[in-house]
Amino acid sequence: MDNPGPWGYFTGMEIQADVLIAGGGLNGPALALALARSGLTVAVIDARPATARAEAGFDGRAYALAIASKRLLEGIGVWPRVAAQVQPILKIKTSDGRPGEGPAPFFLTFDADEIEEGPMGFMLEDRFLYAAFLAAMQATEGITLFPGETVVAQEVTAAGVAAKLASGRTLAGRLLVGCDGRGSGVAERAGIKRIGWGYGQTALVTAVHHERDHEGTAYQYFMPSGPLAILPLPGGHQSSIVWSEADAVAAEIQALDDTGYLAALQPRFGGFLGEIALAGERFTYPLSLSLAERFVADRVALVGDAAHGVHPIAGQGLNLGLRDVGALAEVVVDAARRGEDIGSAVPLGEYQRWRRFDATALALGMDAVNRIFSNDNPLLRMGRDLGMGVVNALPGLRRRFIRQAAGLEGELPRLLAGKPL
Ligand SMILES: Cc1cc2nc3c(=O)[nH]c(=O)nc-3n(C[C@H](O)[C@H](O)[C@H](O)COP(=O)(O)OP(=O)(O)OC[C@H]3O[C@@H](n4cnc5c(N)ncnc54)[C@H](O)[C@@H]3O)c2cc1C
Repeated sequence: MDNPGPWGYFTGMEIQADVLIAGGGLNGPALALALARSGLTVAVIDARPATARAEAGFDGRAYALAIASKRLLEGIGVWPRVAAQVQPILKIKTSDGRPGEGPAPFFLTFDADEIEEGPMGFMLEDRFLYAAFLAAMQATEGITLFPGETVVAQEVTAAGVAAKLASGRTLAGRLLVGCDGRGSGVAERAGIKRIGWGYGQTALVTAVHHERDHEGTAYQYFMPSGPLAILPLPGGHQSSIVWSEADAVAAEIQALDDTGYLAALQPRFGGFLGEIALAGERFTYPLSLSLAERFVADRVALVGDAAHGVHPIAGQGLNLGLRDVGALAEVVVDAARRGEDIGSAVPLGEYQRWRRFDATALALGMDAVNRIFSNDNPLLRMGRDLGMGVVNALPGLRRRFIRQAAGLEGELPRLLAGKPL
């Protein structure tokens, strides 16, 4: 065996690990930590060099983590590494809106006081989350990292599954997990087809500084062209923006200089937080839905965006992925404890039954919400305003929405229920 390098990975040899994970974005590291902390050995192969994201400065990209996701991060030892950098979400205000008009009359508010679990979620910047995953993986026995390496081929063998890397290395394991994002090569090579469609929308993502304190409130405005989310960041005076527009409009806005960009954002944003100024880099993401027809194949499982790339309308993409992580870790660790083959059809079938319906239903639900709200039809507009008013007036219904958004409904994997794996 070659000497491990400074990051704990090896060069030029065949490695045996229980689980091979293709993709070290966010779900890959979370799964690796859950498995390794339960005694399994894991190889994580990621196309990007580890430093590419770990050394990133503030760029405005952030996630809304549901309570259930926080519990999983606690269970895998990542939460203490990010706890000082999160912004609790204390309120969520949603409204129908039009540029320059401000919110519609029925402003739907969800308040953390209506559930017992405390804040409904937490905002966390991508750079802190990724750096914490990397540090935790480096500190955990049983995880071998292969940064800057790409999986180019895979094969089910008599003993298990093998993955070939672009560098020529071959890794062997009992289960191969595709955490390689929407364009999952693992899924494609396993013969898993995808369905999906574009929305003709692009998300403009940045951060703004604002004069007034956000007081932990997340805002979601449903504009005719697409939703605008204003998500609170630590300190009270910065928020992350995810702003969806039709592709051509988004391209025009992105091409503007900072002054022009701010002038386009201002009427959509409104004046409720006082003066605003750009505070982060400006990113664009084309929006699409991409669902794998199956989440498993022979000795293969798909997790996160590789299984389901969804519209970011409710900020649920990563939360859905972490539910997959909790479910797959649970069935695999339980199989290992029973002395069974962790890559066999039994645990994989259990995983697929657990996750496929839930993830697909949520993905299609978000798709429907986006279609209903990204629309200026006066009837639809009145209907949805009335709907918001009704939900607002009924505390029981509101509480269900809050618990749903916090990831507390449905059959939760142990790690998401705050229990040990
Ligand atoms: C605009 C926008 C805003 C969002 N906001 C939120 C939010 O507020 N809350 C939320 O929960 N989610 C949000 N999401 C969704 C979230 O970003 C994704 O769900 C999440 O990043 C998916 O993580 P992943 O690990 O599955 O995949 P990815 O992050 O896509 O990672 C895949 C990794 O696989 C690697 N890879 C690919 N191919 C190979 C290969 N052949 N070999 C080795 N490595 C490979 C890539 O280098 C990459 O590192 C948002 C998404 C968008 C677009």
